[in-house]
Amino acid sequence: MSITLSPQHETIPAIYQEIHPPLDKLTATLEADRCLECGGPYAPAPCMNACPARVPVPQFIKAIREGRPEEAARLIFEANILGGSCARVCPVEELCEGACVLTKEGRRAVSIGRLQRYATDVALARQLNFFTRPAWKPQSVGVIGAGPAGLACAAELAKMGYDVVIYESRPQPGGLITAAIAPYKQLTDPLPAEVAMIERLGVKLHYGVTVGKDISIEELERRHQAIFLGVGLGADSKARIPGEDLSGVWDSLKFIEQIKSGRFPKIGPTVAVIGGGNTAIDVAREAVRLGATNVMVLYRRTEDQMPAFKHEVKAARKEGVHFYFLTAPVRFIGDGKVRQIECIHMKLGAPDRSGRPAPEPIPGTEFTLEVDTVIKAIGQEKRVELFQALGIATEGGLVKVNEYFQTSREKFFAGGDCVNGGATVVEAVRHGKIAAQGIAKFLAKG
Ligand SMILES: Cc1cc2nc3c(=O)[nH]c(=O)nc-3n(C[C@H](O)[C@H](O)[C@H](O)COP(=O)(O)OP(=O)(O)OC[C@H]3O[C@@H](n4cnc5c(N)ncnc54)[C@H](O)[C@@H]3O)c2cc1C
Repeated sequence: MSITLSPQHETIPAIYQEIHPPLDKLTATLEADRCLECGGPYAPAPCMNACPARVPVPQFIKAIREGRPEEAARLIFEANILGGSCARVCPVEELCEGACVLTKEGRRAVSIGRLQRYATDVALARQLNFFTRPAWKPQSVGVIGAGPAGLACAAELAKMGYDVVIYESRPQPGGLITAAIAPYKQLTDPLPAEVAMIERLGVKLHYGVTVGKDISIEELERRHQAIFLGVGLGADSKARIPGEDLSGVWDSLKFIEQIKSGRFPKIGPTVAVIGGGNTAIDVAREAVRLGATNVMVLYRRTEDQMPAFKHEVKAARKEGVHFYFLTAPVRFIGDGKVRQIECIHMKLGAPDRSGRPAPEPIPGTEFTLEVDTVIKAIGQEKRVELFQALGIATEGGLVKVNEYFQTSREKFFAGGDCVNGGATVVEAVRHGKIAAQGIAKFLAKG
């Protein structure tokens, strides 16, 4: 049986329903009142230390408590131009809220993410202008990619007065925020309002322009005195096993992108997700929301080796997702459409290049699972071709950078997923901010 849900439903489809709905003014004020306002000039609060963008958490929460959400938003956006998006998508359990001192007393952490959302929503709804552009500097910087890294770098440079132009392949900004982040965390808003704020800073955005194809690298170098690469990673990696092209076998990014664009994928009641990262958990939870009744995650290592965040795994389990550990697919079986997966049990052997024990198949332990849909979430390809064309050094397909995110060619800087192999939006923002400082230093040298 196939399940098709239409985005034209009268009520919001389950998959678009936010897991962390907004706080109203009263609840936000009461929640802000729980903050102990830790830290001081010599020792930032643990929540602020845990934030890669260094958002001054106690200060913005104090402003909310005192009925000044606009001031709270100013503090947030100053540190993180994507502060509204991050309020929705940050793994706060691992970052600011995980560091909240209240948890050390066995109490619930202050809902920092939701308070950040409250303040930024107020400001964005009023289209408040927080930044005034300083005098123009003569130099121009080209930014490749309008994902979080590129947007953060561009905003920071524009705040310093540089002319900044972003080139983006897609017809819209946001990178994986727009294309891949679970719709129950963030569908699109408030990204367009954040991008509008960046445009008001004077940043120019060119969409539908792929660097290396629609514009040559040489032309880019002629136009700009420095270039930032925020190109992220590429398409889903292939499983390279038989049956991968059967209908009903999905790449995770294509699956999520369809959901986000309102063209809900047709899935059956039994869905197998291959992988053990956060993307695997996201697509499993999305399959549950699309109506699948038996969703299982197959992972070739053990649970404690899963890269996915513990709180995400816990939430998936609560929603009914089952996990099969030390299990790898051997082939997908079907008659044009996938019907079964042949799997094999794995054991852990000697450490591999990642330092983790390598999973090894146990011969003779093959078994089959009946499935209607398979979603592969086993990582993304690296953009090696582009890096080779640019002539910049890489390691393991990722761009090698120094502490200022400068590459082996001094005019080129890079940050975000193309440097760290895939992490979080706020980490990409951090890279973009530091690279902007590096670019300013480089340009100042003349
Ligand atoms: C399924 C999934 C779920 C995720 N969920 C979360 C989450 O809940 N919370 C969280 O914090 N993080 C999450 N992440 C991670 C987060 O989205 C990324 O770490 C972040 O988007 C990286 O930002 P970036 O700017 O480096 O790259 P991207 O977001 O990938 O942006 C790169 C941009 O560059 C453009 N580009 C590439 N090549 C070119 C070229 N040659 N010319 C012009 N443009 C180009 C691309 O089109 C893209 O828009 C998730 C990732 C995935 C895959």
